[in-house]
Amino acid sequence: MNWERIRKWAVFCLAALAFFLAGGFAIENAQAPVIMPDPKGTSVTEAPSQGAAAGDSVQPGCQITQTMLFGRCGHSVTRRVEAPKDVVGRDFAGTQEYYDLWEIITFQPSAVDMQREIPLFCPMHTVLSVNDAAEVVYLRNLYGDGMAMQDSAERSLPEFSEEDQRSLIQGIGFDSREDADAWLAVH
Ligand SMILES: [Zn+2]
Repeated sequence: MNWERIRKWAVFCLAALAFFLAGGFAIENAQAPVIMPDPKGTSVTEAPSQGAAAGDSVQPGCQITQTMLFGRCGHSVTRRVEAPKDVVGRDFAGTQEYYDLWEIITFQPSAVDMQREIPLFCPMHTVLSVNDAAEVVYLRNLYGDGMAMQDSAERSLPEFSEEDQRSLIQGIGFDSREDADAWLAVH
């Protein structure tokens, strides 16, 4: 019985559940995010340039499109859902207030598009990083906006070169656990 394989499969299933059961995510290859947060903090009550007209409000059945842009890998995840009833009837400012973590890009009664830049790797990657005890650990973005520890690599930070230590502190993303292990084997 290969427990490591079973464990990996369970981890994969959890990650898939967290994303796909929630409402039809599609992971897409994307260009690096082009819209950067405004460091001065644009007023959220300012209407977006596209789509909005004075007095528009969200209709029942309005399609909400949410795109998460992952800054560390350039991938994006898009989720489309029907507007929840708490949002129906809200105007642009009210909708922006409800979705306070998001930036509304287009606002129309039947379709609202919003996005959020997340400075992490997307859920497709195994990430090597360090915990508070300077132990090298495997992480994965299971929830979209938070990294979860998967396992210890049983290596400690001081075993690595200064350059690798800096990279590990930032987090190094790999396409698979096998790729992360291959990197560890030669560092
Ligand atoms: Zn990614």
